[in-house]
Amino acid sequence: MDLANLRRMIRDVPDFPKPGVIFKDITPALADAQALAAIVERLAEPYHDQNVAAVAGIEARGFVLATPVALALGTGFIPLRKPGKLPHDTASESYELEYGSDALEVHIDAIAPGDRVLIVDDVIATGGTAAAAIDLVVRLGADVVGLALFIELAFLNGRAVLSDDVPIHAVVTYE
Ligand code: AMP
Repeated sequence: MDLANLRRMIRDVPDFPKPGVIFKDITPALADAQALAAIVERLAEPYHDQNVAAVAGIEARGFVLATPVALALGTGFIPLRKPGKLPHDTASESYELEYGSDALEVHIDAIAPGDRVLIVDDVIATGGTAAAAIDLVVRLGADVVGLALFIELAFLNGRAVLSDDVPIHAVVTYE
């Protein structure tokens, strides 16, 4: 499926979850067999020869995309979860939201020093979530091979809060 058709399967939902936000609803794309295959193929495409050891997905929509990307790259999947969800020993990274803060956690034995880890999420907006994910994975000693996103809201300039060391790959960009 070409990029223009894939883009048409992303639904804009104004004022969700709060007034002023245009929510990028990816469920129509996920529900379409060809679009789902195209998303996964395009997300994984730059990394086939990058010796990726594991693909980490950000809860919750990142899980849906990171797992098939892991299969496409022949690696396992690591969940980066909201606080209190993972049962074993965790490392945690907090980040600021517009109102308040949140955190991401990972099992400390999920990543070994030197592992080459690809991080996947559905959308990058202001970049706070992705920055926390990168910091968490780096803190466990891994090399972040890249950050792969289905959608980049470039007008929010999330890239600006991320380290220049991490290459960013976005399938669909909104300028
Ligand atoms: P941010 O930390 O601002 O980059 O927000 C990224 C996270 O919030 C991602 O995990 C997205 O799932 C979600 N998100 C933020 N803005 C949107 C949006 N306009 N449409 C869909 N998801 C969004």
